[in-house]
Amino acid sequence: MKSEILRLLKESDTYISGQQLCDHFHVSRTAVWKVIEQLKKEGYEIEAVRNKGYRLTCSPDVMSKAEIESLLATQWVGKKVVYSAEIDSTNTQAKAAGEQGEAHGTLFVADKQNAGKGRRGRVWESPAGSSIYMTVLLRPDLPPVKAPMLTLVMAVSVAEGIRQVTGLDTQIKWPNDIVLNKKKICGILTEMSTEIDYINYVVIGDGINVNQDTFPEELSETATSLKIESGQIYRRSELIASIMKQFEKNYEIFLETEDLSGIQDIYNEMLVNRGREVRVLEPGNEYKAFAEGINKTGELIVRTEAGEEKHIFAGEVSVRGIYGYV
Ligand code: ATP
Repeated sequence: MKSEILRLLKESDTYISGQQLCDHFHVSRTAVWKVIEQLKKEGYEIEAVRNKGYRLTCSPDVMSKAEIESLLATQWVGKKVVYSAEIDSTNTQAKAAGEQGEAHGTLFVADKQNAGKGRRGRVWESPAGSSIYMTVLLRPDLPPVKAPMLTLVMAVSVAEGIRQVTGLDTQIKWPNDIVLNKKKICGILTEMSTEIDYINYVVIGDGINVNQDTFPEELSETATSLKIESGQIYRRSELIASIMKQFEKNYEIFLETEDLSGIQDIYNEMLVNRGREVRVLEPGNEYKAFAEGINKTGELIVRTEAGEEKHIFAGEVSVRGIYGYV
C-alpha cells in the first residue's frame, strides 16, 4: 500500500483527500495516516491540509522499496524488489536467491555494500547514501556461451537510462564500464550458474556513482560521479527505474536474435574506445591496437600494429587508452 500511496501522491499535482485514499485501499483513516507518517520519516515532505488532504511537496533522493516500486514502469523486471540498507554484495545476494528458486526479473537493490565486487576478484568501492548498487536476476533460456553478451545489453541500458534522467551523454568503455569525461561512473558485473547446456540463472549487477563528492585517493584519477561531473544531485530511485525500463526493452531486442545485432549500432556509437588506439591487457600479454567497434557477439574488433584483425573476447581482458584509463 505504501508504494501505491506514494505513486498516487506523485502522480497528482493537487491534494488527495484522506477519504479518497481510504476508499481506494479499503482501509481506515488511521491506516492511511500511519503510512503518511512513515513516508515523512523517510524524508518525503508531505503537506497535510484539513478538508483538502495530502500533497507531496518534495521528494528528495530517498532509496527504499516503496520509492523504487512507485517509479518502476516495467512489465517483468523488478516485479519483485528486494531492498537492503546494507548488504555484502547485491550480486552475492542475487546468486543465493537464484539458488533458492527466486523468480526471473527479481531486482536486488542496496544503499551500501560492505563487500562490493568487480571483475576477477576486484573490489567495488560502495559507500552508503550516494550510489546505486543493484542486481537483476535472470533465468534466460539460452546456451551459456551467450550469457556474457548480457553485460553489453546492460551497458547500453545504463547509458540510456542515465541520459533519460539526467540528459548526460555517458560512454561505454568496452566491455562493461560506463564513463563520463573519461572517468568511470559505473561498473557492471555479470555472474552465472550453468550446466553444460543450460543456464540456471544469470545475475547482472550495476554499481553506479551518483551523488558522491569524493573518492578514495587510489580511485581519484579514474573514478567520478554524476554529481561531480554535472554539479547536480540526482534521485537514485528514478535512475534505477529508468535503467530497468531500458534494460527490459533491450533484453527483449537481444532475445529476438540471441545476439547483439539489434543494439550493436547504438553500443558502437556509445563506445569510447571506437576509432582509437588502445592498449589490450591480456594476462601476460599487452599490445597496442586500433579499436574498430564490437561485432554482433560483443567481441571487440581491433587491428594490431602489424595490420592483423583480432576479435577480443572480454573474459580475461581489459582495455585502456594509450595515455591513461580511457
Ligand atoms: P578496468 O576498469 O580496469 O578495465 P574492469 O572492468 O575489470 O577493469 P571492474 O571489475 O568493473 O573493472 O571494477 C573494478 C575496478 O574498478 C577496481 O579495481 C577499481 O579500480 C575500480 N573501482 C572500484 N570501485 C569503484 C567505484 N566506486 N567507482 C569507480 N571505479 C571503481
